Amino acid sequence: MKELKCLVCGMKINENNYSFNSYAFINKNREDYILYCPFCGVNEVYLKEYEDVYSVDVNTLDSKTLKILDHAMKLEVFNGEFYAEASKLVKDENVKREFYDLSKIEYMHAKVHKKLGGFKELPILNKPDYTKYISDEEFLEAASKREEHAVAYYEKYSKEICDDVVIKVFKALSDVEKEHVTLTEN
Ligand SMILES: [Zn+2]
Repeated sequence: MKELKCLVCGMKINENNYSFNSYAFINKNREDYILYCPFCGVNEVYLKEYEDVYSVDVNTLDSKTLKILDHAMKLEVFNGEFYAEASKLVKDENVKREFYDLSKIEYMHAKVHKKLGGFKELPILNKPDYTKYISDEEFLEAASKREEHAVAYYEKYSKEICDDVVIKVFKALSDVEKEHVTLTEN
C-alpha cells in the first residue's frame, strides 16, 4: 500500500501499522482500503499522501483559544487514563481490548492538542479511584458519558476558537468521539 499521512496527528500509515488499535473502531481498516487513522481515529478525509500536517503558529492564538486547547488536552488525558485503568478492571476480553485501544487513541488526541497549543508536556492528573465501578456495564456507561461530554466540549468550544486549523481539528476529533459513544453504548 502507498503510505498515507494523517494531517491531524502527523503519523504515517503503512502496511505495518494500519490495523493498530482496531478494537477502537466499528469498521476495520483493510490494507487496500484505509478508512481512518489507526493512531488518532480521524476518518479518511484527513489522510493524504502529500499534504502538510496541520499546524498553527502559537503566537497567533489568543488566550481564550490557548485555554480551550489546554482544557481539551486535559480532558483527553483524563479519558485516556480512565480507559487505561478500566481496561485492567473489566472482565470481558473484548471490552478489555476495546478500552485498551481507546486509551491509545485518547492519549494521541491529547498529544495533538499539546502540539497545537505549544504546551511543553502532557499534564499529570490525580488518578480517580475507578474501583467504584463494579460491572463491565457500569464501566461502559461511564465511558459513554465521558465520550458524550467530549463531543459536547468540542462542539461548544469550536465556536469560540480564533483559528481555522484548530476548528478543523476539533471537528475531526469530535467525529471520532461520536463513534466512541456508539462503541461504548453496545
Ligand atoms: Zn491521526
